[in-house]
Amino acid sequence: MPMPVYLDYNASAPMRPEAVAAVLEASALVGNPSSVHRFGRLARRALEDAREQVAAMVGARPERVLFTSGGTEANNLAILGAGRPRFIASALEHDSVLRVRQAELLPVGSDGVVDLAALAASLASDPRPALVALMLANNETGVIQPVADAARIAHQHGALLLCDAVQAAGRIPIDIASLGADFLSLSAHKLGGPKGVGALVLGSDLPFAPGQLGGGQERGRRAGTENLAGIAGFGAVAALAPDSLADQPRLAALRNRLEADLLRLAREAVIAGRNAPRLANTSAIALPGIPAERQVIQLDLVGVAVSAGAACSSGKVRASQVLAAMGFAPAIAGSAIRVSLGWQSTAGDVERFVEAWGALALRRQSSDLSAEPAA
Ligand code: PLP
Repeated sequence: MPMPVYLDYNASAPMRPEAVAAVLEASALVGNPSSVHRFGRLARRALEDAREQVAAMVGARPERVLFTSGGTEANNLAILGAGRPRFIASALEHDSVLRVRQAELLPVGSDGVVDLAALAASLASDPRPALVALMLANNETGVIQPVADAARIAHQHGALLLCDAVQAAGRIPIDIASLGADFLSLSAHKLGGPKGVGALVLGSDLPFAPGQLGGGQERGRRAGTENLAGIAGFGAVAALAPDSLADQPRLAALRNRLEADLLRLAREAVIAGRNAPRLANTSAIALPGIPAERQVIQLDLVGVAVSAGAACSSGKVRASQVLAAMGFAPAIAGSAIRVSLGWQSTAGDVERFVEAWGALALRRQSSDLSAEPAA
């Protein structure tokens, strides 16, 4: 089999060499960043350099960047630490938002964009202080959300806004002040950094309940000796964000060609969120008649790695909640796969995918591919 093709950057991106080098370099640092001696000070310098790099990527003040173990912890920390009696979230949010506490869900249009009139009505209907969660770009469809407008509405009603920017970072420009976000979540591994490191960025000096207690690290907001190697790798990819942004038109051209080819091969294919502003690298493609999980397995057998838009738990295929929220019927939502490109993706990768997917579409009528997988 030729070299496998990786088209699952929204799950995790291959690490950039600069991030690998930064991780290795920081791994050689002996000291604890909290120690006062020279070894500690060297480690502290590396930590603060990375904090400045991450802060610069999102236009924040470095002291408002709080390193975490990833996007999940950042979202959890904001939701649990904000101390707001009400929690309102778009139906598009990641499980690391929706599973933390009961949310009042905001509906989504068929284009994959959240309904802001519903947000305004919801906030007006109940005066209790609220936290609103709205992601900047959706992980399944890539659809970009009107976060600045949502923040304005939230603030008019005395609410705070959490923006999960995990999928947007390095793919669209981010400026926390223009977004008006009170909390912004980031994760290093989606943009070519190491896995298991991220940040919660604060929009102001809001009081905030710490998530874990112990030593006074991260200004008392997140105790525990910092993951210095991971953080240094995160800083290195954050510093590369301008290069990554400059690469997006190339990715958009590849993705648009991919989508045009698929629609030519199978006119019944559906591309979710195609008419909304989207990330350049993401495509959510439904091929009705073949469950998403089955498509992913068949594509993997020929060396093409993509993911099921549909989440899979205990061997059962569940229709994508994001596509369901957009109003797609279960036959569509359950047959959607996600293709996501990134810095190493080439035209050759896209051709391999199109060829493999085209073969699937062709076999669909004549084979048992449309059958439900065995339990
Ligand atoms: N938020 C979004 C939108 C994501 O796509 C992900 C990862 O899939 C996360 C949060 C969680 O990030 P992490 O893997 O760093 O915990």
